[in-house]
Amino acid sequence: MVDLTRRFDVLVIGGGNAALCAAISARRAGASVLVLEGAPKFYRGGNTRHTRNMRCAHDAATEILTGPYTEEEFWKDLLLVTGGQTDEELARFMIHESKDILNWIVEQGVRWQPSLGGTLSLGRTNSFFLGGGRAMLNALYRTAEELGVDILYDAEVIDLVIEHGMFLSAQLKQPVGGRTEVRASTLVAAAGGFEANIEWLKQYWGEAADNFLIRGTPYNRGAILKMLLAKGVQEIGDPTQCHAVAIDARAPKFDGGIITRHDSVVFGIVVNKHAERFYDEGEDIWPKRYAIWGRLVAAQPDQIAYIIFDSTVVTSFMPTLFPPIAGATIAELAGKLELDAAALEKTITDFNAAVRPGTFDHTILDDCRTEGITPAKTHWARRIETPPYLAYPVRPGITFTYLGTRVNKQSRMLMKDGKPSANMFAAGEIMAGNVLGKGYAAGIGMTIGSVFGRVAGREAAKNARN
Ligand SMILES: Cc1cc2nc3c(=O)[nH]c(=O)nc-3n(C[C@H](O)[C@H](O)[C@H](O)COP(=O)(O)OP(=O)(O)OC[C@H]3O[C@@H](n4cnc5c(N)ncnc54)[C@H](O)[C@@H]3O)c2cc1C
Repeated sequence: MVDLTRRFDVLVIGGGNAALCAAISARRAGASVLVLEGAPKFYRGGNTRHTRNMRCAHDAATEILTGPYTEEEFWKDLLLVTGGQTDEELARFMIHESKDILNWIVEQGVRWQPSLGGTLSLGRTNSFFLGGGRAMLNALYRTAEELGVDILYDAEVIDLVIEHGMFLSAQLKQPVGGRTEVRASTLVAAAGGFEANIEWLKQYWGEAADNFLIRGTPYNRGAILKMLLAKGVQEIGDPTQCHAVAIDARAPKFDGGIITRHDSVVFGIVVNKHAERFYDEGEDIWPKRYAIWGRLVAAQPDQIAYIIFDSTVVTSFMPTLFPPIAGATIAELAGKLELDAAALEKTITDFNAAVRPGTFDHTILDDCRTEGITPAKTHWARRIETPPYLAYPVRPGITFTYLGTRVNKQSRMLMKDGKPSANMFAAGEIMAGNVLGKGYAAGIGMTIGSVFGRVAGREAAKNARN
């Protein structure tokens, strides 16, 4: 039974990777820590439950990573995917700290496994969690509990009392026990983005947001983010920017997770509901491009698209939960997808005619490309000609939003007047926009949560002692 009448040193709101890294780090620094997780125990861990890997810099091959991935290379990758929309000082700090996280996270009970195969080509850059994100979380929870961190589930924070940039208390709502005021010397906000709040998404996306599927937890509704911004914390990031991928249109509204994501784009073409291509499917290697496809599909009529390929490539990518829709002919496939058969036949005929000979290799920017069509497919272009013809219907799958709270290198929130908050810190999705102005490279979400979570916990503990 957690004693809620006492005043804690550190209150952590959230129950995912960022929250647990913060809680463990604060506790190891000697603080008393309370974690409030809005979800019930079974669903604890937000989007972290769905993750598989984390991107960390390292100077030499490790037991599970194939070679060095230097800080400079990581920085260049981040610069490329964000188009420079990142806070360089914070990003370089995160990248530097990520080197240490590879070992630190193992010290907290998490185990690594080598990279999975498939199209993501992550064997050098990303370490995979043995057993996936849920096993990773279980290890962090176990460690936190052993260290004496107090944890409450079904513990939704519905209000924050903040005066002049100083956190005083939080209002907690529980199914049993009602509302309680919780007091703490410092706050770590690690409550995710607002991706599960369709009404909030609609403010920027309009009615199209009704057709978005949310890949992760329904509990990340952005309530904490909204309160912090309303109470004087400086915001960072474009509210329309988010991590969004193409996921199976047959996926559930929430929590479809990784098994509904399609990595087959590079092996075929993608058409909209008019059976027209709309973007270069072979622009860059998949880890640097997979996260643009959600936005691309969101911009298409009715927010629906179809990945089309043929039987020669079915074993080239990770299978997903839903089987592809098949047709013995293009016309039959078009019928099943409710697309105009003549339009789809023309798109595929034109595409096939534009394919130039080359040597196919999906792990590099190969020379298989088209000539004379718009948009071009600049790599991995091969004719779609061997039946059965196959398709996946896809919709925008929102992973997480980038609008967040501005922080400094201590993970301390900055107020609208530019001054650091007296005692409020943020980590994870809720401050991801500091590093991710736009774009994404696989595995950075967990890097942001681990690095800034660890820092936030340590700094919050120090702050509480002073
Ligand atoms: C399907 C999928 C796969 C992914 N795969 C990867 C991957 O392999 N690698 C990677 O780096 N990233 C991946 N991501 C992104 C990654 O999940 C996030 O970047 C990361 O988990 C964020 O951690 P977090 O702790 O900030 O947020 P979360 O893990 O989402 O935790 C937020 C927590 O806040 C709680 N909360 C929200 N509101 C309240 C409230 N009012 N009161 C109390 N608690 C509240 C939620 O219940 C939740 O526990 C993936 C995401 C999805 C959806």
